[in-house]
Amino acid sequence: MIDLHAHTNASDGSDTPTELVRNAVAAGLHTLAITDHDTTGGWEQAEAAVGQLDVGFTLIRGAEFSCIHDDGGVRISLHLLGYLFDPDAEALKAERARLRESRLGRGEAIVDALVAAGYPISWQQVVDIAGGGAVGRPHIGQALLQAGVVDSVTDAFTHLLSSSSPYYVPKLEMPVQRAIELIRQAGGVPVIAHPWARKRGQILDEAALRSLVEPGLLGIEVDHIDHAAADRARLAELAAELGLLHTGSSDYHGTRKSVRLGAETTSPQALQALLSLATGIGVVRSEPAARAV
Ligand code: AMP
Ligand code: FE
Ligand code: FE
Ligand code: ZN
Repeated sequence: MIDLHAHTNASDGSDTPTELVRNAVAAGLHTLAITDHDTTGGWEQAEAAVGQLDVGFTLIRGAEFSCIHDDGGVRISLHLLGYLFDPDAEALKAERARLRESRLGRGEAIVDALVAAGYPISWQQVVDIAGGGAVGRPHIGQALLQAGVVDSVTDAFTHLLSSSSPYYVPKLEMPVQRAIELIRQAGGVPVIAHPWARKRGQILDEAALRSLVEPGLLGIEVDHIDHAAADRARLAELAAELGLLHTGSSDYHGTRKSVRLGAETTSPQALQALLSLATGIGVVRSEPAARAV
């Protein structure tokens, strides 16, 4: 099984990168992509964890970039997965740093608003929960959970943390066309993440999706837990029509979301096509241990 979207505590997942790799093997995956928000901070530990395995396993290093689509003043937030880009490509590296930096002030602003409304959490608590990783709303959700305000992180998103909440503060996002271009320049493969996850807010329409082919989009994450069946069918048609990769992934976040590793998967054919499009860096592979004679 192939799962191309998973988070660690380098961003808003709860597993360490080592735990993610071990959990992926235990879940029966043979290929996994690590795709933390706006950071490659988990790569090194994940690579080391693959080095310790005695089963055949392939790690694909990637990230999920916070992006904005601005169509004549209609601004839509979206996520763009980038796979196998060169982490040292300067322009993209600088953008990642900017996005991570902005998450700090923005996270603190959301916490300030919640504290002012009487919710018993603190910014220091959120910083501790994030543990040096890219800060996101799920860390604030965890603080609200610890404070007994909500029953789960997902629960926190239904009101307090949703994008329509009075406490919501937007974060810095990169124009999606630029993100696509920078990932391509770094030899990576840009794939739009969960484009029709409607419950998260406004989504791109078909015309907007099509317009991303020109700057260099290479794939659509079709199979995702937040996509309805009819939307998956239409996105699959679009991917085929536009010659884009059709991927499917869990978007695993450990205990911060209920979805399991391998809950959605990508076909071996799509994986091969993805690998053949990447020129930035290679995959990290472990081999099965040689059998004793
Ligand atoms: P942020 O990047 O800080 O804006 O937070 C967005 C993150 O929150 C996403 O990457 C998801 O991990 C998480 N998230 C968004 N919607 C929900 C939800 N309904 N339930 C749980 N987690 C969510
Ligand atoms: Fe997330
Ligand atoms: Fe996402
Ligand atoms: Zn994700």
